[in-house]
Amino acid sequence: MTPEHIALVQRTFAGVLPQAHNEPVPDKEADVEESAHRALCSSGLSFSIGDAMNDKAWVAKAAKQPMVLETVDLGPLGAEDVEVAVEHCGLCHSDLSVCTNEWGISQYPAILGHEVTGHVTAVGPHAKRLKVGQRVGVGWYSGSCMHCHQCMSGSHHLCPQVQPTIVGHRGGFATHIRAH
Ligand SMILES: [Zn+2]
Ligand SMILES: [Zn+2]
Repeated sequence: MTPEHIALVQRTFAGVLPQAHNEPVPDKEADVEESAHRALCSSGLSFSIGDAMNDKAWVAKAAKQPMVLETVDLGPLGAEDVEVAVEHCGLCHSDLSVCTNEWGISQYPAILGHEVTGHVTAVGPHAKRLKVGQRVGVGWYSGSCMHCHQCMSGSHHLCPQVQPTIVGHRGGFATHIRAH
């Protein structure tokens, strides 16, 4: 993160992103960067395969409420899903729009973050072409049916069953994310 990014994070989440509990207020730029990175991306934890029972995520309980760092059980991995250990996650105004329910479509508790990069840590038995350890990205949509005309012609974003990553699905401000 550059100083401009940090300033953007601070402006965007002013009053929304809480200062982490029991941590001294950062007084150096490097501390601010580290603090913002931990808060938004991965909470600084290390990952291991099948670790998502101990997923840590920033959870928004209701519109315009501060996000709270919690342990989240992602449950059994879907047969066609993969699990990704989040390494970095962008911060987009759409995250703020879902956080504040600006569009009236938010579902709480919400885990925001839809610009994820990371590594695959688990692969469902029917997931194709992805392997543990592979670097992947997850964007605005985290799943689609994969059998309709739109999916089969490469227009997954037009699938009638498309799954937004941060509405009704747990996003990337977490140690792990799931995707179809
Ligand atoms: Zn976005
Ligand atoms: Zn489809």
